[in-house]
Amino acid sequence: MDVTVIEKHSRPGGRLNKLEMDGFTFDVGPSFMSMSFELDELFGSVGMKSPVKLQELDPLYQVYFEGNSKPYRIWKNLKKLEEEFKDLEPDLAAKAEKYLKRAGEFFHDTEGKVVKSNFNNKLEYILKLTGVPLKHLPYLFKTMWSEVEDTFESEEIKVIFSLVAFFLGSTPFDTPAIYSLLNYTEMKHDGYWKVEGGMYKLVEEIDKVLKAKNVKFVYNTEIVKVNTEGGKVKSVQDDKGNKYDADIFISNSDAAFFRGKVLNREKFSEKNLDSMDWTLAPFTIYLGVKGKIDNLAHHNYFLGSNFRGYADTIFTSSISPQKPYYYVNVSSKSYSECAPEGCENVFILCPVPDMRFKKDWSDKNELADNIISDLSKRTGFDIDKNTLVKKVLSPVEWAEMFNLYKGSGLGLAHGMMQVGAFRPKNKDEEFSNLYYVGASTTPGTGLPMVIISSKLVTERIEADYAAL
Ligand SMILES: Cc1cc2nc3c(=O)[nH]c(=O)nc-3n(C[C@H](O)[C@H](O)[C@H](O)COP(=O)(O)OP(=O)(O)OC[C@H]3O[C@@H](n4cnc5c(N)ncnc54)[C@H](O)[C@@H]3O)c2cc1C
Repeated sequence: MDVTVIEKHSRPGGRLNKLEMDGFTFDVGPSFMSMSFELDELFGSVGMKSPVKLQELDPLYQVYFEGNSKPYRIWKNLKKLEEEFKDLEPDLAAKAEKYLKRAGEFFHDTEGKVVKSNFNNKLEYILKLTGVPLKHLPYLFKTMWSEVEDTFESEEIKVIFSLVAFFLGSTPFDTPAIYSLLNYTEMKHDGYWKVEGGMYKLVEEIDKVLKAKNVKFVYNTEIVKVNTEGGKVKSVQDDKGNKYDADIFISNSDAAFFRGKVLNREKFSEKNLDSMDWTLAPFTIYLGVKGKIDNLAHHNYFLGSNFRGYADTIFTSSISPQKPYYYVNVSSKSYSECAPEGCENVFILCPVPDMRFKKDWSDKNELADNIISDLSKRTGFDIDKNTLVKKVLSPVEWAEMFNLYKGSGLGLAHGMMQVGAFRPKNKDEEFSNLYYVGASTTPGTGLPMVIISSKLVTERIEADYAAL
């Protein structure tokens, strides 16, 4: 079989990309791997043992709350976690155990039945859902925040257990409680993993396998049109007018946006896309810093003091946040090759409104300076003065780099009406040889889900072509 990958960006990986500046290497987007067994299965599917070296995180990360210079380490071991928060939350281990048990049961009752299944229509999906034990029903009608509120007392613990909502590109106040299964995957099941040498090693290893199988790559090329005949796509066409013929086409572009922008479908017009729920946009800063910042670990969160107020207002506002909440990753803490000797590579991710709400990001340097100055204060290290290299990416650049709709970082959100058979399907409605893969189709966002998505589309194609 001949396979050609046509990619808009200048190298493979999509959002899982890398940035190199003057001896510093940064992961552009993802910084955690979860459900690592999916990676093993991916390489296993081509008869290989995974060559990627993963190291488990424990503590998973550390959290700084505003006005408190002591970071809290988030341990997988619940007794250690209880000790860390002994002044804030009594009996934490027992409470967390109960919360995670429930989330774990939901995870295992839905993983095979719902997450790893293709659906042909909504009825099939709903029938599958009826196979999920009824005891999980209350999860569907609660938000993640109300689930943590019912379990924990201290604001700090509630905030920490609901941070996973941000991994879905949303806030805990509008994320269904079912996603507390992510707490289970991080704290009990498989945990979080860092990748030796940086996350981009994942892409490099997959790239090697594809090249060994003679897959061809065409970079810096955007598909802007499809040419069709008799209910099938005959060729896709790039921005320079070149046509690429094939028997089967798989789009890894955002599945909703592609149907709107390239296939011109009314259902996915800008007006209709705007009315859907999209995930938060990334605002990212990459800093090469001279010196070692002792108060930072590999993974860190810097949180403010008004979580609810912040989450409720900031993401639908046209103004940059004044007191932003943000995540800081310093992979040179684990892998010295990511920065020159005596230096750190500091990556900052701040979730912000997408371009439906805030179109103009010409103030991006002000927001970056605001975040850097806050980080300097809270770590006691003058980051600005010691910055050797710097790059700032606002939602505008993210949208442009990878065709992300209005800069939304994780694509369509994961509310009940945008998952399963309600998410854009991995098979086109009109053209029988056009399929979709990736975070914007089923099952959803995040690296493990994207691997599952590739399995689902393969199964779909195999079933379609076996039937011929
Ligand atoms: C800031 C950030 C941090 C994240 N952190 C994590 C994390 O820690 N852990 C985790 O599991 N997940 C994380 N994610 C989510 C994860 O990155 C995504 O779910 C995943 O990478 C999506 O993969 P994909 O293949 O669906 O899409 P992409 O990675 O976006 O790949 C799609 C590719 O298609 C190309 N393309 C689009 N349209 C066209 C076109 N018309 N023609 C040609 N090429 C086109 C794009 O350039 C892109 O390379 C993060 C995401 C972001 C933005």
